[in-house]
Amino acid sequence: MRNLLLNRLEEATRVSDIEEKKKLLTIVVAGAGPTGVEVSGMFAEMRQSIIRKDYPELGKGFSDIILVDGGDAVLGPMSVDSQNYSKESLEKLGVKIMLQTKVKDFDGETVTLTDHSTIEIKTKNLIWAAGVSAIPFEGIPAESFGPGKRMIVDAFNKVHGTENIYAIGDTCLQTTDEHFPKGHPQVAQVAIQQGKLLAKNLATDEPLRKPFIYNDKGSMAIIGRNKAVADIPKPKFHFNGFMAWAVWLFIHVMSLLTVKNRLRTFGNWVIAYFSKDQSFRMIIRPQDKDKNITA
Ligand SMILES: Cc1cc2nc3c(=O)[nH]c(=O)nc-3n(C[C@H](O)[C@H](O)[C@H](O)COP(=O)(O)OP(=O)(O)OC[C@H]3O[C@@H](n4cnc5c(N)ncnc54)[C@H](O)[C@@H]3O)c2cc1C
Repeated sequence: MRNLLLNRLEEATRVSDIEEKKKLLTIVVAGAGPTGVEVSGMFAEMRQSIIRKDYPELGKGFSDIILVDGGDAVLGPMSVDSQNYSKESLEKLGVKIMLQTKVKDFDGETVTLTDHSTIEIKTKNLIWAAGVSAIPFEGIPAESFGPGKRMIVDAFNKVHGTENIYAIGDTCLQTTDEHFPKGHPQVAQVAIQQGKLLAKNLATDEPLRKPFIYNDKGSMAIIGRNKAVADIPKPKFHFNGFMAWAVWLFIHVMSLLTVKNRLRTFGNWVIAYFSKDQSFRMIIRPQDKDKNITA
């Protein structure tokens, strides 16, 4: 994504046609979940600081960042407080939000959207943040795959229609947990907790095995500098702004492996925070095997 964006900026400095320049600099993000919110917030902040500094010749007014979602709120599964805060924060950053609108098509030049009518946005940049789907493989009965090609599992993570195949994390769909009748969210905590329970269950006699019940520790989403939202389920509590942002950073840095990685990342973040800069702005291209060079 970094390579693509930097290339587009470079190209935009070389074209004089206003429409073409706008097409290179407009970004459409599909999906206003945590990833879509984070990505559009990040681009909006880059536009204010880094791009203005490195590409002053591009001027203002050429680039639009448009966040599109088929639902009627940003961060649909989160609390109304989180939804309102994130929408307002993104709009203040200059992100255009289009709700109840779906991406229908993209041909590399135009994104076609549908709400009640068809809307076309001229752009070369569409970023898909509207969810992942699993990769199915042979050997699993076709009827064992649910929406998003996720494998349907029972309460013990055994794949429907099989006797000795188990699936955990994003790739499985488990509807037996009473608080998540449509399946669990595709987040790391579900995968971690399912993995731990399955490991214990496989080492236990079948009648003593425990069904999976997700312990939801809460949801967070980062919007940008000093801006994040957090919903804690037990006790029900919402907070946002600098505090939520600091907690988000702490949780993510502590999730990294090894103390060295944590310190290095934390150090980089501190520098980036105060300098409002990202040092790594190199364009990297795949190796050209024929010419044996790396550009
Ligand atoms: C952009 C983005 C941001 C996210 N941010 C957050 C966040 O902030 N917090 C959070 O909780 N969750 C977040 N998630 C979701 C989180 O990453 C996933 O829920 C989590 O990684 C699921 O873990 P998993 O082990 O099920 O799958 P994965 O982490 O996807 O691991 C699956 C692994 O299997 C490998 N694999 C695939 N097919 C095969 C094959 N046929 N053979 C062998 N290996 C194979 C893949 O290469 C991969 O390494 C984010 C996801 C995305 C895409």
